[in-house]
Amino acid sequence: MFDNLTERLQNSFKVLQGKNKLSESNIKEAIREVRRALLEADVALEVIKVFLDQVQTKVLGLKVGQGLTPAQAFIKLVEIELTEIIGGEAESLDLKIQPPAVIMLAGLQGAGKTTSIAKLALYLKQRENKKVLVVSADVYRPAAIEQLEVLAKQVEVNFFPSTIDDKPSDIVASAKKYAQKQFFDVLLVDTAGRLHIDEQMMDEIKVLQKKVNPIETLFVVDSMTGQDAAHTAKAFADALPLTGVILTKIDGDARGGAALSVRHITGKPIKFLGVGEKIDTLEPFHPERVVSRLLGMGDVLSLVEEISRKVDHKKVQKYTRQMAKGQFDLSDMRDQLLQMEQMGGMEALMDKLPGMGQVPQNVKNQMIVGTETKKMIAIINSMTPKERNHIKLIKGSRKMRIANGSGTNIQVVNKLIKQFEKMQKKMSSGKIQKMMAKMAGTDGM
Ligand code: GDP
Repeated sequence: MFDNLTERLQNSFKVLQGKNKLSESNIKEAIREVRRALLEADVALEVIKVFLDQVQTKVLGLKVGQGLTPAQAFIKLVEIELTEIIGGEAESLDLKIQPPAVIMLAGLQGAGKTTSIAKLALYLKQRENKKVLVVSADVYRPAAIEQLEVLAKQVEVNFFPSTIDDKPSDIVASAKKYAQKQFFDVLLVDTAGRLHIDEQMMDEIKVLQKKVNPIETLFVVDSMTGQDAAHTAKAFADALPLTGVILTKIDGDARGGAALSVRHITGKPIKFLGVGEKIDTLEPFHPERVVSRLLGMGDVLSLVEEISRKVDHKKVQKYTRQMAKGQFDLSDMRDQLLQMEQMGGMEALMDKLPGMGQVPQNVKNQMIVGTETKKMIAIINSMTPKERNHIKLIKGSRKMRIANGSGTNIQVVNKLIKQFEKMQKKMSSGKIQKMMAKMAGTDGM
C-alpha cells in the first residue's frame, strides 16, 4: 500500500537529517521534495497546495530542541497535516435508526461495488453483530444480480431476489418491507454502475436515492485511478447527498493520490478501504493510522486489532504453556503457520509493521513467506507424528521421503529443520521460558 509515496516521502525527509536547525533554505528544500513526492503520487493539485500552505505556515513556529531533531519535528508536522487533510477523525457508519438502516452503494462499473457490498455485509455481521440483508437494484446487468447472490452465499447473509424486469425503486421498497418484517438490522443496496458518468445514470440514481432515502449513501471508487477517483467522487457528491466514500483496491495502489485527495475534494469522509480481492479485506478508515503507515511508521493498532480478531486465543495460550515447558514440536509450528496464513499471510501483516516503509520491496519480497509458508506446511504434513515430535529422527532416507512427499527438495527440508532447531534453542533459554510462563499464567507452577 502506497509504497512509492512512502519511499519518496522518506527521501524528502532526508534533506533535514543531520541538520541541527531548521533554516529557511533547508525548510524550502524539504517542502519542495514533499511537493514532488505528492505530485508523483497523483495527489490533486489543490490538495497539495492547501496542505503545503499549512505546513509552510506552521513550520516557522516549530519548536526544535525539546527532544526532537529538526527532521523529526518536520515529520511530525507533516503527519499532523496529512491526517487533517485526509479526514481528521475516523467516521463510522450511522446505523442508529429504526431498523433496517438502509445503506446504498453507488459508483462506476468495475469500481468494486458488488464486492464491497459483500465485504460490508460480512463486516457488519461479524464485527457489529448485525443481521444483514442485501439486494441488487442493478437492472441493467443480470450478471450483477447473480454475482451478488453468489457473494451473499459466500458470506452467509440473506439475499433478496430481484430481476431485470423490476423497477429499481420497487425492488428496494419490497426489500425494505421484507427487512422490516423479518427484523433485519441493515439493508445493503447495490446499484447500477456505468462506464462513465452520464446524465441518465445520474438522474436515475438521484431518483432512486430520493425514494429510498438511505441513512448512508456511500460512493465506491477505485483508488488506482488516482486523483480521477476524487474528481469522479466529486461529481457524484454534487448530485447525491453522499455520506461517505469506500476506496477500493488500495492493495494495488502504490501511489496514494486518491486516498489523499478524496476527502478534501468532495468534503465527504472516507469510511472504508478495500484492501484485497478476498471478502474479508475491508478496513474501517482511520486517518491517523493510514498516515502512520504512509510515513513508514507502521500501523500497530490495526495490526493488534487484526491479530486479536483472527487469532484463536485458546490455541495461543496452549502454545505459550507448551513453550514455557519446552514442549513445542513441529505440529505446533504447523498450527502457527496455518494461523499466519489465515491472517492474510506475512505480506498483509508486514505492511503494518513500523519501519517496513523503509525496507526496499525486493528485500520485503524475500521476507514474504506466502509460498514459503505453504511449502513449510507441506513439509510438516509429510512427516509422521513421531518425526514431528522428535526432529532428530529425520535423517537420510526419511529426509528424502519428506522432500518427495512435499514436492520440495532436501535443501528446503534442511532449512526448515534448522529453523525449527534454532527456534527450539531460543525457546529453551531460561529467560524466554520465564517470560512464556508469565504469559501463560503458569508462573511458579
Ligand atoms: P462493480 O462493477 O463496481 O460491482 O465491481 P465488482 O465488485 O464486480 O469488482 C470489480 C473487480 O474489482 C473484481 O474483480 C473485484 O474482485 C475487484 N476488487 C474489488 N475490490 C477490490 C479490492 O479492494 N482489491 C482488489 N485487489 N480487487 C478488488
